[in-house]
Amino acid sequence: MEQERLSAYLHSLSSGQGEYLDRIRNEAEKDKVPIIRIEMESFLSVFLELKKPADILEAGTAVGYSSLLMAKQTESIGSRIETIEKDEDRIASAEKNIGDSPWADRIRLIRGDVLEVFRMLCGEGRKYDFIFMDAAKGQYIRYLPWVLRLLRRGGILISDNVLQDMTILDSRFALERRERTIHKRMRDYLYALNQTDGLLTTIVPIGDGAAVTVMQHDGILTEIDE
Ligand code: SAM
Repeated sequence: MEQERLSAYLHSLSSGQGEYLDRIRNEAEKDKVPIIRIEMESFLSVFLELKKPADILEAGTAVGYSSLLMAKQTESIGSRIETIEKDEDRIASAEKNIGDSPWADRIRLIRGDVLEVFRMLCGEGRKYDFIFMDAAKGQYIRYLPWVLRLLRRGGILISDNVLQDMTILDSRFALERRERTIHKRMRDYLYALNQTDGLLTTIVPIGDGAAVTVMQHDGILTEIDE
């Protein structure tokens, strides 16, 4: 309840993101496509402004809303954004939303499964200054070894939805059986973000919970669990 009141209050402080993005948000909400919460917009924007990343990677495009928001926010920096999505209907909507936008030349939509694309990007020796993790929550722990190879030293990883409507605090025994796996995986992920040498992480209970991680080393080669 407190969380809902806080959320409503934070929403009331936002004046929107301009006509183009506001229309995409409204359509996404009408079609029940999950996109970042309003309070995450300023959160992401502040870190982009501080970091001024040349290269951004996003896991989970949906219809392109957060990619477009990041492109708009980095207008003066000219950041390049790559974003990954596997759902064909969402890819079609994202392609249209990105293609019709003023930021199309800076956003590359990569079709495919996040894990496969991460593996491909690592193989190509690609590096990023900023990674926004917003795909399947239960997979974050599997993505982490790849993310640690893809982030440049000083790079920032923002992981969304890490507190899972606060169920992360619950004992696993209080959860339905099917929720236990994802609960354990997210706890393992947050533990790894906090306990891996060379990572500096803070977890903020904004929206559905966001973790901000700074990469302090030149590449951390933790084991890959295939
Ligand atoms: N970042 C988007 C935004 O705020 O506008 C919202 C992303 S939505 C929360 C998560 C997206 O990740 C969904 O569209 C889903 O299809 C996609 N996704 C989930 N698992 C994936 C995977 N393994 N590979 C590629 N995309 C995936």
